[in-house]
Amino acid sequence: MAQTGNDPIIVAGGGIGGLAAALGLANKGYRVLVLERASELGEIGAGIQIGPNAFHAFDALGVGDAARAKAVYVDHLLLMDAMTDRRIVAIPLDDPFRRRFRNPYAVIHRADLHGVLLEACRSNDRVQLRVNAQVERYEQSGTSVAALLASGERVVGTALIGADGLWSNVRRQLVDDGAPRVSGHTTYRSVIPTERMPEDLRWNAATLWAGPKCHLVHYPLKGWEVFNLVVTCHNDAPEPVAGRPVSHDEVRRGFQHVCARARSIIEHGVDWKLWVLCDREPIQNWVDGRVALLGDAAHPTLQYFAQGACMALEDGVCLADSLERQDGDIAEALILYNRRRAVRTARIQLGSRLLGDYVYHPDGARADVRNAALAAMSAEDFYDELQWLYGGTGLNTAF
Ligand SMILES: Cc1cc2nc3c(=O)[nH]c(=O)nc-3n(C[C@H](O)[C@H](O)[C@H](O)COP(=O)(O)OP(=O)(O)OC[C@H]3O[C@@H](n4cnc5c(N)ncnc54)[C@H](O)[C@@H]3O)c2cc1C
Repeated sequence: MAQTGNDPIIVAGGGIGGLAAALGLANKGYRVLVLERASELGEIGAGIQIGPNAFHAFDALGVGDAARAKAVYVDHLLLMDAMTDRRIVAIPLDDPFRRRFRNPYAVIHRADLHGVLLEACRSNDRVQLRVNAQVERYEQSGTSVAALLASGERVVGTALIGADGLWSNVRRQLVDDGAPRVSGHTTYRSVIPTERMPEDLRWNAATLWAGPKCHLVHYPLKGWEVFNLVVTCHNDAPEPVAGRPVSHDEVRRGFQHVCARARSIIEHGVDWKLWVLCDREPIQNWVDGRVALLGDAAHPTLQYFAQGACMALEDGVCLADSLERQDGDIAEALILYNRRRAVRTARIQLGSRLLGDYVYHPDGARADVRNAALAAMSAEDFYDELQWLYGGTGLNTAF
């Protein structure tokens, strides 16, 4: 176990994936240097849904209790028909769900989730965190790897983990598969105080209103202080965008056709910001010698399974475990990590596109089929369908 030589393992990117990897590796005795390009470590001010598999990862990283303390535990995954204002199905997340998957389903503020990992990294002597450090590319020999920074600095390590997100520089060199695929789906986000949320929508649920080529999501966050609003329309947006402020009018445009109650959600939002979503085709290999990808850099996905961050957390756990299993043989450990993660994450990438088409955005007869098929399912049926996902962990893929 643990470090061979003096150089640390370098992690490019201090997002959820990078910090999970850093923590996992440090817990196994490795020294880790996180290089983050931004001037501060942090996350955007919005919510995120986390399945039981994310809690397995938190536990494996030693931050389970801290993460649990920040989460809101929703009672249902609630699917509403955004055209008719009718409930299609409410999947219960109560004790039978928790017993089945050995952990809860929850929602959490991204800054809180990231903060839990950051705090644990800061308290760990083996983790060093550097900001204003943009990794441009890498060079490697048989025994070490160097991250070359935008500043011209050369940082030497025993391995380099590219956790540098959707637009990863490490991936550009390692895979060289061009820019991410622009999905044409535009997402608008807003976080509002709970008192702004209409009372008849203050549900303790991760709620999804599904309509033709659009959907709306809301859930409470931060001990019910605020509500997270995320509304998405498939408007064939041609260019990637991340976090641009937009007017109410622009948000309204993609939702004129849905029922009044669903439309009203938009009226209660403030300071809307826009993202145009991207993903990539899954790939089988994301390792080059002493360099590997992790999280969105390896397998960026649309958000329809609500699993991108959960997969990044699982990656961190699996990476650390693979290094331990290979007793520090970096190249073999990275190959093992890649092999253990590739199929599960590819299934998320491909399945998310299908969920978008068949559950989130169908119209007419296709929407009728969705409503009838999902309404006919029992809670146990849903749990069976989700077993591969929520029953799996970073260490054990349950297919
Ligand atoms: C609308 C939407 C909703 C979502 N909802 C969910 C959900 O409910 N549940 C869920 O699990 N997931 C969700 N996701 C997905 C999730 O947000 C991502 O999968 C996750 O944040 C990826 O984490 P990451 O650390 O791999 O990448 P990122 O969060 O992108 O972090 C990358 C980090 O690397 C830094 N960086 C970038 N380039 C460099 C460089 N060259 N050198 C150094 N540092 C660099 C960046 O500044 C950043 O800090 C959602 C995504 C979207 C868009």
